[in-house]
Amino acid sequence: MKKMWMTLALLATGAMATPALAADCAITIEGNDQMQFNIKKVEVPKSCAKYTMTLKHTGKMPKSSMGHNIVLTSTADANAAAADGMKAGAGAEYVKPNDPRVIGFSTVIGGGESTTFGFDVAQLKAGTEYTYFCSFPGHSFIMRGTLQLGS
Ligand code: ZN
Repeated sequence: MKKMWMTLALLATGAMATPALAADCAITIEGNDQMQFNIKKVEVPKSCAKYTMTLKHTGKMPKSSMGHNIVLTSTADANAAAADGMKAGAGAEYVKPNDPRVIGFSTVIGGGESTTFGFDVAQLKAGTEYTYFCSFPGHSFIMRGTLQLGS
């Protein structure tokens, strides 16, 4: 079921080059110079102890003007965490230091770069919707997707 969903999601977004992973305790999401993530929904298998998210910036623009990262919070916390992240600034990867709302986050990257982070799946509650977003100033409302604990 999950595999089928992944395939559909990848087809829908045109990410044909992304290989289907057997274990699926990891995902690669692409971000571009048009401020788009190519994947908008992620289901984390509950059999995974740790889940790894990789962000690949497929654009050409530098991180100072088109920086991207991934920050994961509950959907309820996303807007407030994004606002605090913007205030925290580039030196803090646009994430408020020690923010308890943040489940995991990556560094900010520019075009051609990629970055990876992982988090403990035990932090996710079944039935709660999570949101991953880019906290670079001005990006969080466009660059976001939802994440849930799957079966
Ligand atoms: Zn961004």
